Amino acid sequence: MNEQPSARRLVVVGGGPSGLAAAWKASVEAERAGREIEILVLEADGEVGGKARTGQAGGFLIETGPQGFLDDQPVVREMIAACGLESEVLAPEPAANRRYIYRGGRLRELQRSPLAFAKSGLLGPLGLARLAMEPLVRARSGDGRTAGSASAGDLPAADADESLYDFAARRMGRQAAARLISPVVLGIFAGDARKLSAAAAFPRLVAMERAYGSLFKAMRAGRRRGVPPPGHRTLRRGIQALPQAVAALPGIDVRYHSRVTSIVRRTDTNRFTVHLADQESTPEASQLSARTELSAAAVVVAADLPSAADLVDGVSAEAAAELRQIESPPMAVVHTAFDAAAAAHIEPAYGFLVARGEGIRMLGCQYETATFRGRGPNGTFLARSMFGGSVDPEAADLGDAQLVDLTLRELRRTAGIDAEPTYTSVARWPHAIPQYAPGHPRRVARVEAALDPIDGFYLAGNALHGVGLSRAIAVGAECGERAARLLLP
Ligand SMILES: Cc1cc2nc3c(=O)[nH]c(=O)nc-3n(C[C@H](O)[C@H](O)[C@H](O)COP(=O)(O)OP(=O)(O)OC[C@H]3O[C@@H](n4cnc5c(N)ncnc54)[C@H](O)[C@@H]3O)c2cc1C
Repeated sequence: MNEQPSARRLVVVGGGPSGLAAAWKASVEAERAGREIEILVLEADGEVGGKARTGQAGGFLIETGPQGFLDDQPVVREMIAACGLESEVLAPEPAANRRYIYRGGRLRELQRSPLAFAKSGLLGPLGLARLAMEPLVRARSGDGRTAGSASAGDLPAADADESLYDFAARRMGRQAAARLISPVVLGIFAGDARKLSAAAAFPRLVAMERAYGSLFKAMRAGRRRGVPPPGHRTLRRGIQALPQAVAALPGIDVRYHSRVTSIVRRTDTNRFTVHLADQESTPEASQLSARTELSAAAVVVAADLPSAADLVDGVSAEAAAELRQIESPPMAVVHTAFDAAAAAHIEPAYGFLVARGEGIRMLGCQYETATFRGRGPNGTFLARSMFGGSVDPEAADLGDAQLVDLTLRELRRTAGIDAEPTYTSVARWPHAIPQYAPGHPRRVARVEAALDPIDGFYLAGNALHGVGLSRAIAVGAECGERAARLLLP
């Protein structure tokens, strides 16, 4: 193989949002420097997007992975603008501010005003009284000691990294932890609040406690300063439109059906050998992807877990062992559509989450047609229900018919929808969302300590620094920028 070109070759493994962000940012850096680098994205699948996957059926827009993103990262806006998709950005309908929790046999609205919240029945009198005491609860500092004692810096000591449940119970009381925070965690991580690190899963909450000594005080201060919480956004044509648009940008070469099996670092040449799976040459597969190995001066791994761990193994067994400790349980996403008349009794809203212990396996349900305009034809109601995650991984393995039956039964019980669906579909993610267990911040530090000294090797994706789309994009962009700077001295 000709070694000369690989001196300026960046290989990005994985054409999901994070990998494409890396490719885009590297191309921006190259253009700024007025120099060329070869940017090759190797994607195992036949299309880009990873879990950002949008389908069309019967006039419905079906998001089987993320259906929105948090507008909290300027780099996401930059990438959207670079793709000319600014006019495609869509904010939720005002009604989507309404959210419900199913508890005690019925849906209860998460009210903002204290009086309405008290009346919602989500918490009992003792739970409400304990919640009201939150501003009086002494804060804990970064090292787990109470505020005022010496801080150990940003990293919580291993035994001080509380679970999210413990954090919420300490600040807001056990009822609020079980009935409010635990269901919310299902909606973001499909995870168990008792098994997630507060510092890693909800760094903003921990930072609010550190800065203001209380979550309520922090929220009040935010309101006084007029700082709105980051908004929720999507794209008119669906989330997958973003990775697809990045893949079409000049200077980014995407090779489909190109599964990377291992990456080996060659210390003699300071290059990486990227091994690809042997595969049938399909019309889509190019000459290059039919080759079984490639040489590159820089590699960004943006594959999802557990594949990312296997690829990291080629450069650091230590980092790979750490990554293998991060669970990413399976999920199933079930779409069901109805005539709007069947849902006429439902107040337009974002949807609901289900507290555990209610005898309902559904983690939550999003009312897609009420949340974003254009998700379905007029006169229809599209619901997106989630199953599985770390609280009930077996549910994700049920057959398609069983999952649809379960969804319909549970929508009847929770939302009172008692009608034949006009459309159904089931999507599965065997490794859906990484679970940041207590101790995650220390794990991240160990992975970075192992990988940082390896020039030209970067780990993107959502295994370490935030599971949501916007963080995955931000981390990918940072890796792309670092890789480009290395290749463009
Ligand atoms: C059901 C569900 C709902 C979600 N909802 C939201 C939401 O509403 N909002 C939000 O912000 N986030 C949401 N997320 C999270 C969001 O999907 C992720 O943050 C995002 O997809 C991470 O992007 P990524 O590029 O790191 O990984 P992925 O999207 O997983 O992409 C990884 C890519 O790498 C490829 N790949 C893997 N191994 C190899 C290999 N060996 N060789 C080559 N290619 C490989 C894969 O085929 C894939 O294309 C949701 C996730 C799920 C599962």
